Amino acid sequence: MPSIFSKIISGEIKGKIVHQDDHCAVIVDIQPVSPTHLLIVPKKEITSIASATREDQNLLGHLLLTAAKVAKDLGLDKSGYRLVTNIGQDGGQSVDHLHIHLVGGRPFTWPPG
Ligand code: AMP
Repeated sequence: MPSIFSKIISGEIKGKIVHQDDHCAVIVDIQPVSPTHLLIVPKKEITSIASATREDQNLLGHLLLTAAKVAKDLGLDKSGYRLVTNIGQDGGQSVDHLHIHLVGGRPFTWPPG
């Protein structure tokens, strides 16, 4: 069954897509934790980075570079921002379709709680 993100990308359910190309989509998070909260999602349904393979190497690079470009287009490169990908239960992953959170517009602390 397609993931919630695949359903947004296919138009089956509503969602706000701010960028799309052959390999990924950038979706506005429905429960933002910061003024900017976007999800960079590969069109290929990979569960998480833990199940990615060498075959996905170019795709993974593309996701990171897309995140950086979108952040720059939004002017976030000046103030800084955070990229996060959660993996599995302890990582706090709730959607089993790889995605990179792009959060910005406020300062974040480290380490995470
Ligand atoms: P994670 O917990 O790292 O798997 O992140 C999943 C993210 O997907 C959360 O930040 C959710 O708010 C977000 N999310 C879940 N459903 C939707 C949806 N229908 N549209 C946009 N974002 C969603």
